[in-house]
Amino acid sequence: MNNWRLEEKERIKFYRINPSPGLNLVFTTRNPGVSKGGYRSLNLSYDVGDDPENVNKNYVRVKKALGIDKIFTLKQIHSNKIFYLNSNNFKEELEGDGLFTDEKRLAIGVKVADCLPIYIFDKKYKVIGIAHAGWRSTLAQIGMNLVNAITQKFGLSPSDLNFALGPCIDQPCYEVGFELLSRFFNNLPGSESFFVQHNRRLYLDLKSLNGFLLGKLGLTEIASLDYCTKCNPDFFYSVRRDGISGRNLAVIYFSNK
Ligand SMILES: [Zn+2]
Repeated sequence: MNNWRLEEKERIKFYRINPSPGLNLVFTTRNPGVSKGGYRSLNLSYDVGDDPENVNKNYVRVKKALGIDKIFTLKQIHSNKIFYLNSNNFKEELEGDGLFTDEKRLAIGVKVADCLPIYIFDKKYKVIGIAHAGWRSTLAQIGMNLVNAITQKFGLSPSDLNFALGPCIDQPCYEVGFELLSRFFNNLPGSESFFVQHNRRLYLDLKSLNGFLLGKLGLTEIASLDYCTKCNPDFFYSVRRDGISGRNLAVIYFSNK
């Protein structure tokens, strides 16, 4: 059974699954890097106030461990914006929350601390995509936008695609405002069943909702990595838990083996 496994290379620890030989879906843990304080220790975001020198050093470790030269990420803005990436068109500091590519040598990633990383790839292993989905991007249908962008560009149907979901904050830990209920209900019929009321508080099952939305489009889910980021401080960053926080990295790429 092909499932996520915890690996250790170049001293860092990360989760990986290989749906086919040469296709890598990775989720880094927060250990061990060089960042300090709330960013301790393998923070992989330059946008959260950490010392950029330390983030550089952390990226060097991750790239070495994964055997890749560069990881393309975005300045994430909780949007539904998607970019197609190839080696000719990438500029630094693009703002958006999803990326896809068909170039075998490009690794693409999103940075998360409670938000959900969505990995997408086609069943013939030609195209890879990744998205960053908190409630705002979910409401703005980032998953569907990524699927539409991929299928339109490559003449595929959603049923040609698989997806996997990384760790995020789980429903019992993810309290949201009651005003979200009607916004989701009006925009995404069916999504209201992923909200749970308990002791006059409202909680959102972000992961199941995104899985439902992608499944409804016709995609097939492979094994997802089911941990609550807030409940596992040794492995995952969590903004809800810590406020000031680093970011774990979700990355998808092709390798030679
Ligand atoms: Zn939790």
